[in-house]
Amino acid sequence: MRVVIVGGGLSALRSAENLRKRGFEGEIVVVADEEHLPYNRPPLSKEFLWGDATQDELSFGVPAEDPGIEWKVGHSVIFSNLEEKTLTLRNGETLTYDGLVAATGVSSRRLSIPGPQEGRIVLRSLNDAISLKEKLKPGARLVCLGAGFIGCEVARTAQRVGCDVDIVAIDPVPMVVPLGKDVGAEVQRRHEAAGVRFHMGQSIAEMLGHDRIEAVKLDDGTELPADFVLETVGSVPNTEWLAGNALDLKNGVLTDAYLRCGGRSGVVAVGDVARFANPMFAADPLRIEHWQTAIDTTVFATATLMSDLGLTDEEPKPVSIMPWFWSDQGNVRMTSYGMLGLADSTEVVEGEITGECAVSYLRDGEQVGILLIGTEIKQRGARFKRQLAKTRRGLTAV
Ligand SMILES: Cc1cc2nc3c(=O)[nH]c(=O)nc-3n(C[C@H](O)[C@H](O)[C@H](O)COP(=O)(O)OP(=O)(O)OC[C@H]3O[C@@H](n4cnc5c(N)ncnc54)[C@H](O)[C@@H]3O)c2cc1C
Repeated sequence: MRVVIVGGGLSALRSAENLRKRGFEGEIVVVADEEHLPYNRPPLSKEFLWGDATQDELSFGVPAEDPGIEWKVGHSVIFSNLEEKTLTLRNGETLTYDGLVAATGVSSRRLSIPGPQEGRIVLRSLNDAISLKEKLKPGARLVCLGAGFIGCEVARTAQRVGCDVDIVAIDPVPMVVPLGKDVGAEVQRRHEAAGVRFHMGQSIAEMLGHDRIEAVKLDDGTELPADFVLETVGSVPNTEWLAGNALDLKNGVLTDAYLRCGGRSGVVAVGDVARFANPMFAADPLRIEHWQTAIDTTVFATATLMSDLGLTDEEPKPVSIMPWFWSDQGNVRMTSYGMLGLADSTEVVEGEITGECAVSYLRDGEQVGILLIGTEIKQRGARFKRQLAKTRRGLTAV
C-alpha cells in the first residue's frame, strides 16, 4: 500500500511521521519541489536573516533510518487524477497511490508593477532567504511592499543589520486584518519609534531606475530610494495540481470536517493549503497559515487516512484546533491564541497597550482570541490559552 504526500515542508514531514506512529507500514513517497529536505520556515525572516541560525540548524532532519519513506526532492506534481489515483510529475513520471496527502502550502502573491523588475524579491523559501540575506548590508535601502507579519518581521531584521527601511502598504495600519486597527496602530508606533518609516494607504505605482530598481514611486507621487523591494502582499495556495477534480479550490482546497479534500475518501489536505471549518470557533472554512496548524492538522488528517484505507477500526475525529502563532518583530514580540481575525472588537485585559499587555479579541461580545504583546506576559501564555479554550468549549460544545 502506498501513500503519496505532495509538498516537502513541515506538514509533509509531520504527515509521514504521524502515519508511521499510527502503524502505517506501507510505502510513503514524499514529492517535494524544493531541492531541500524539510526545514523550518519561521527563522527565514528572523534568526537566519540576522545570522543567529545557520542553514543546517533550520533542517528538521528526516527519519532517514526509515527505508519505506522515499523523498523525491526537486520534483513537482503538476497534475492529479483523483478518480484513477494517479499523479503526474513535471519530469513526466506517473505515480499511483492508495492514499494522498496535499501538503503543498502557499506561494508569495505577486503584483504587476511597471518599471525595472531587477531588485524585486519575495520571501517564502530557503533560497529566497539566502538571496535576501546577501542583500541585507548596512546602508542598503529596503522597501517592503506589504505590512503583514512577514513584512514587519523582515523590516525590523533588516534594520537590525543596518539597512534603511520603508514599509508601503494599502492598509490603514500594519497587520490590520488579524490585529485590528487599534493594536495595528500601536505596533506601527513602536516600529516607527525604532526608525522604520511607514507609508500607509499607499501602493507602489511604478518602479524607477534603468536596468534595476533605484527608487519606487507611490500612488501619491512620493519617490522613495530603494536598492531592492521585498513584496509581502499575501499568499496564493499551491493547488494548481489539484485542478480538474471537481474540488473547491477558491482559496486553498476545501475539506470536509475530517480534512478530506472535497469529502473524497483517502485524499486529505494539511497545513497552509487546507481550508477547513474549525468548530471551536464556529467559523466558516478558513485557511490558517500558522506553523502549529501545519502540525495539528496532520494529527487529524492521518487518522482520517488510516480509517479510509481500512487500516484501523478507530473512528476519525472532526478537526477542531486552537490556532496559535508567534511573531517576533524586533522588540515587538507577539503570541496569539485563537482566531483574532474573526473579532469585531478588542479589549486590553491586562497591562497597558503601550507596554506589555494582553488584548482580548471579541466577536459579538464572545472571546475568539487573545494576543499577548511582550516577552514576560508570553511566559503566562498557557494560562491565557486554557482560559480561551474553556470559554470556547462552553460556547460551542466542542
Ligand atoms: C518567512 C516566513 C516566516 C514565518 N514565520 C512564522 C511565525 O513566526 N510563526 C508562525 O506561526 N508561522 C510562521 N510562518 C508560517 C509557517 O512557516 C507555515 O505555516 C508552515 O511552514 C506551513 O507548512 P506547510 O507544510 O503547510 O507549507 P510549506 O512549509 O510552505 O511547505 C509546502 C511545500 O510544498 C512544496 N510544493 C508546492 N507545490 C508543490 C507541488 N505541486 N509539488 C511538490 N511540492 C510542492 C512547496 O515548495 C513547499 O516546499 C512563516 C512563514 C514564512 C514563509
